[in-house]
Amino acid sequence: MYTYETLLDHYYDEWERIDRCRSNEERRIATLTYADMIDFAHDKNPLHALIILVVNYNGQVCNGGHSQYVFNGYAHGVGGCFDDHPTTEMHDLMLSLFVQLGLTSDGRFIPVLSIMRMLKVDNETYCDYCDGDGYLDDDIDSERYGCCMCDSTGASDTPGIDEVLADKLDDVYYAINDQFMTDFKETINARLQQETS
Ligand SMILES: [Zn+2]
Repeated sequence: MYTYETLLDHYYDEWERIDRCRSNEERRIATLTYADMIDFAHDKNPLHALIILVVNYNGQVCNGGHSQYVFNGYAHGVGGCFDDHPTTEMHDLMLSLFVQLGLTSDGRFIPVLSIMRMLKVDNETYCDYCDGDGYLDDDIDSERYGCCMCDSTGASDTPGIDEVLADKLDDVYYAINDQFMTDFKETINARLQQETS
């Protein structure tokens, strides 16, 4: 029987094994993505996929906030921190699994679900380099010059989460996340036990 903790170890071991068994050709064509791993767990048991999604959500957000969660590709599911993440497919799957598995009727999860539902990525965001200003100050001759990263538009076509939204979600999440993770683990362990009895 799995518990919350042993289940994660099991899947991480499995993924390593699957990746090791791939041929060089397969590796050349495509790298395994977070979405592949979630699909793999989902095929075995949707509850298992939800656990992995929530643990990574919580881990990323506690480590570097909702912007890191999006930036590192966990909400989208494909690619890492140097790639574009135009969707929130894995994040949306996490939310729909809460519904599908009947966890939305548990009042303890309402606050965190409302935070999760507010997350979105925009396809046009502010240019990070000039903070959306389009111009930069030159410290030496105190002139302003156009930002070369965004052609002075102040906009970036890199999809991402609005930083103001990300900060807002971080603040509300950090106030409840310890309690949420305690409740979630308790619920999950009871479910896992039910499944095997
Ligand atoms: Zn710029």
